[in-house]
Amino acid sequence: MNDIILLKLGELVLKGQNRRYFEQRLISNIKRRIEGLGNFRIYSVQSAIYVEPLDETCDMNETFNALKQVFGVASLSRAAACEKKAEAILEMAKTYLKDELEGVSSFKVETKRSDKSFPMTSIELSRYVGGGLHQAFPHLKPDMHEPELTVNVEVRDYAAYVHAGSERGAGGLPVGTGGRAVSLLSGGIDSPVATYMMAKRGLKIIPVHFFSFPYTSELAKQKVLDLAAVLKNYCGDLTVEIVPFTRIQEEMRAKCPEEYFTIIMRRFMMRIAQEIADLNGCKAIITGENLGQVASQTVEAMAVTEACCSLPVLRPLIGMDKEEIISLARKIGTFDLSVLPYEDCCTVFTPRRPKTKPRLELVEAAESVLDIEALTREAVAGISRVKL
Ligand code: ATP
Ligand code: MG
Repeated sequence: MNDIILLKLGELVLKGQNRRYFEQRLISNIKRRIEGLGNFRIYSVQSAIYVEPLDETCDMNETFNALKQVFGVASLSRAAACEKKAEAILEMAKTYLKDELEGVSSFKVETKRSDKSFPMTSIELSRYVGGGLHQAFPHLKPDMHEPELTVNVEVRDYAAYVHAGSERGAGGLPVGTGGRAVSLLSGGIDSPVATYMMAKRGLKIIPVHFFSFPYTSELAKQKVLDLAAVLKNYCGDLTVEIVPFTRIQEEMRAKCPEEYFTIIMRRFMMRIAQEIADLNGCKAIITGENLGQVASQTVEAMAVTEACCSLPVLRPLIGMDKEEIISLARKIGTFDLSVLPYEDCCTVFTPRRPKTKPRLELVEAAESVLDIEALTREAVAGISRVKL
């Protein structure tokens, strides 16, 4: 068995003292991500991680695709390992890259040698392998500038590796290395993208969904769980906290002025999110808000919204255009689910003429007729959890 996946680390190599911790976190995230795809040995040497199949049952294509979704990986290649001898490397290149070599008309060999005790220099080894391949595949023209195929040779600690190039990884930092955060996950386009973006910066996510049965249906809840299942590919294990929101909304509708409905609902969401954060050791609250998109997303409204919580509110989409958000949603695979037509809990209670520049004192006065503490406590007590 010599097929192997070679992962190169991104930014985390720069992290000095913390590097070991980042690497270990990444390795454990990788293990969890490819659990069920076969038996692998996973280890790191010289700022690369090796994913080595231990038997024939390993699904290497699926494993490669899964690893492309793991944050902290800058690039990855499928490679073949062989003995650290020039002849063995040439033979491996001939057999492992046979199809690729037959399918192109020009090539070059590029060697990286991190084992400095290897008897040839990188240039000598490239020449040797290039010459041998040229003999074996006489149709191939060597082309140092724009080759159709670059044969990569890496002479590393335990073995030499041959591969035909690398693909870009998911980038970012390993999930968990930045601590935890709650993410307010609706069924819309924006919040799944926001969740993805903050997981990419190393946050472990606890998704929170506000559910207003019967104003929103079981289908709307299922849609959120389906979105979370897609996000799990990037974020690792997710347990969605489903918060019953109906009673708060009905109380508000009965007692508060309509123009403040949206902002009052959003302030309840923040209070409850903060409670969940405190219970789970989370250090921030993530939302999919985007400046100017709707009435509740002006700077004035955001200031009033976040005035009732003390944790930092992270809004990674704040300065993006809708088109940019949509293209990211497509790329990560959430867009098609997000546009399914199930109503969100807020749309049902959307005022006809919402205040776009609310003032904190007036909002506080408007909501003061409600028993805020009791309503918040009751909602938190009614949370149900769905582990994906
Ligand atoms: P999205 O596409 O994420 O739903 P949106 O543009 O529809 O966003 P709003 O409805 O104003 O915007 O919601 C702003 C943010 O509040 C959302 O991005 C999300 O983080 C949070 N949010 C809204 N509704 C819910 C909900 N039912 N459950 C959890 N979070 C919600
Ligand atoms: Mg929405």
